[in-house]
Amino acid sequence: MHLSDQEIARASKMRPIAQIAEKLGISEEDIRPYGKYVAKLPLKLIDEEKIKGKKLILVTAITPTKSGEGKTTASIGLAEGLNKIGVKTAVVIREPSLGPVFGMKGGAAGGGYAQVLPMESINLHFTGDFAAIEKAHNLLAALLDNHIHNQKNTLNIDPRKIVWKRVMDMNERALRDVVIGLGGAAQGIPRESGFDITAASEVMAALCLSKDLMDLKEKLGNIIVGFTFQDEPVRAHQLKAQGAMAALLKHAIMPNLVQTIEGNPAIIHGGPFANIAQGSNSIIATKMGLTLADYVVTEAGFASDLGGEKFLDLKCQYGKLKPNVAVIVATIRALKSHAGIPFDELKIANPEAVRAGLPNLEKHIENMKHFMLVPVVAINKFASDSEQEIEAVRTFCHSLGVKVALCEAWEKGGEGAIEFAHTVKEAAESGMSNYTPLYDFDWGIEQKIETIARKIYGAGEIEYSLKAKQQLKLFKKIGLDKIPVCIAKTQYSLSDEPTLINRPSGFTIKIREFDIAAGAGFIVPIAGTIMRMPGLPAKPAAENIDIDAEGNITGLF
Ligand code: ADP
Ligand code: MG
Repeated sequence: MHLSDQEIARASKMRPIAQIAEKLGISEEDIRPYGKYVAKLPLKLIDEEKIKGKKLILVTAITPTKSGEGKTTASIGLAEGLNKIGVKTAVVIREPSLGPVFGMKGGAAGGGYAQVLPMESINLHFTGDFAAIEKAHNLLAALLDNHIHNQKNTLNIDPRKIVWKRVMDMNERALRDVVIGLGGAAQGIPRESGFDITAASEVMAALCLSKDLMDLKEKLGNIIVGFTFQDEPVRAHQLKAQGAMAALLKHAIMPNLVQTIEGNPAIIHGGPFANIAQGSNSIIATKMGLTLADYVVTEAGFASDLGGEKFLDLKCQYGKLKPNVAVIVATIRALKSHAGIPFDELKIANPEAVRAGLPNLEKHIENMKHFMLVPVVAINKFASDSEQEIEAVRTFCHSLGVKVALCEAWEKGGEGAIEFAHTVKEAAESGMSNYTPLYDFDWGIEQKIETIARKIYGAGEIEYSLKAKQQLKLFKKIGLDKIPVCIAKTQYSLSDEPTLINRPSGFTIKIREFDIAAGAGFIVPIAGTIMRMPGLPAKPAAENIDIDAEGNITGLF
């Protein structure tokens, strides 16, 4: 009987956070402790000079099943393995959202013997960064409705063209579309609005793409909240919102330092989802890691078509980051699911099905090569995997001339990631990567979408709805026609249709509409039926979570 993630985490002995800081060469004076085991890292520690020559390892994956394929687990495991072989490494990942914690997928603090600690606190509120982001976002919404109600709408905002919704860190389908301002003249102006999950907030995106607090404040001021009756954009600075919003984010902008089970440094910061937002931790956190360690292992959400592409096109271009290796996490179970094996039969050994699912892996390998990155395939080993199944993946990678390693960190911690660590180190030191983004920022929006859809998804055509076409015209008119794109799309398929598994091709990508994130610095083309506010499943994980009189939390994962 395996111990649960939570039992393993609780049995691990944590070091005081000052000892972890010491490993990064910083003293107790430099950090802002949040209790015994967590600290905020002040931005002044970031040093561009020290970043030069450091190695940045991106961890992405094949198209996942609904359980996730272990990118966070493999990232933490790889960092443990690299530290074990003498490479000073920090793992830099995102903060969990309460949506998945209470919903279906579970937490985001790794699994088995590759976890970050204290996992309960990291998964539940942590240092309150999400709450601060939510407050800053909703403050802008409150100022906006107050302007219309209390300031005679002097900005001439058309209430039907407001694009700024409210956010909440919860899976809450009932709030996707709401009518606000009901109840009579004292309650404001009635209008249609809605909620997105905090992970999709533009404030989250802006924080994660900012250089520092002043840069963040400027981005917040540039947020487009809606349009006037003449279709002129109205920005947050016109509501004088950016100062108070930035003030709320004073602490949230600082990355959080915690530790892995083996006492190595982990930096956790920001949490945009990869299907509906840019999907990786903050530029600040990544640069903090690169300043303080020699290697940074960082995860981008979902597969290479989502978090991977956005990390490489958006975050790396904005942050001037140059990744050295792209690790592609593959699991035997996901490969079998791409062969059409039903979810509850994925534990039955079936090397033939594994081979049938390999085209999906091959596409993700090709995707990383489009960015001129050396790929390393990591097979995240599950107890149910058979030797023949693992061998099928190894043989396939060898036939393509791609490096492959088994990752057993879930079961064995860093000890189970030694081969993996050596493989990644070799790839990083080979100097064979020559990171090149897929598009330049000065390309047009449609050209960017087409390039991503054709090269990365394998699409044939791109179809725009009438609404999307009208929005494209508007973007031209208001000078947003060169902005980068962050496509929202299902994580279950390379296409925008969740049921098209494995490696579909020639399909049509359907752009339904665009969300604007002009402050953060991108627009969001929404493909297919993906929602920016998830719902809870029939059996929410929250039903299993409990706490006793002594404050012991159970049932987390
Ligand atoms: P991702 O980051 O790709 O979404 P995670 O690392 O969060 O995936 O892992 C998803 C879930 O799968 C977690 O609950 C984790 O504990 C579990 N998991 C990951 N790797 C393994 C493994 N090798 N064996 C068993 N469970 C695993
Ligand atoms: Mg993850």
